[in-house]
Amino acid sequence: MEINFVREPALRHLRCKAVLIRGGYDPHLRKIELVGECWCRKTLVHETFHTLSYFTRDENLVEKFLGEWRFVVEGLTEFLTGIVLYSERHTRLCYERWLAKTHCACSISYEAYVRIFGALSHVVLPLDSYASIFLYRRGVDWNESYRSFLARYKLPDILRDWEGPSDLEALLLDGIEREYGREKRGEFEKLLEEDLEVVLNYGRMVRGGVLSSSDGPI
Ligand SMILES: [Zn+2]
Repeated sequence: MEINFVREPALRHLRCKAVLIRGGYDPHLRKIELVGECWCRKTLVHETFHTLSYFTRDENLVEKFLGEWRFVVEGLTEFLTGIVLYSERHTRLCYERWLAKTHCACSISYEAYVRIFGALSHVVLPLDSYASIFLYRRGVDWNESYRSFLARYKLPDILRDWEGPSDLEALLLDGIEREYGREKRGEFEKLLEEDLEVVLNYGRMVRGGVLSSSDGPI
């Protein structure tokens, strides 16, 4: 894996994007790019998560990640990035500034999708559940891991070519009501509307099947 510092984004799959690019990872070239003065520590954490994921290492998933699953996978990657920032919140300002969007270089990206994963992790998905579908393990079939992840947490298929985050929200609202009842649906729906400080308070999310009672360390 290589890290390049560049003036402008050059990675093939990023060229057409109209949004401000702070960095990127090209799974084919196995290169992280960090752009000019647009990136900050959170960009590097985010891109490093890409390098560790099934979505860039499993050849059956790479094109999906670069194509139809792009935004939902990016949202998941940014959500996991937040765990690192949160865990260091007492020694660094990154988490606070990520949420407050103080500086463009370290503001939260893919916010609507990150918010969905945050809300899900308050109501049904333990934080450690994501590892099985995200972190690449040689010889472990991703499809099987994903199927058992969905079955275990009674979730609909969340990795699809979404028109936008509201379609994913609608599917999850229905699924949560069906499998967990109206109360959980209500909790999830309320969290989707909450301030980022609430929905992305990782210390209050489900861990190992129990809700944390304090905003303690992860
Ligand atoms: Zn990314």
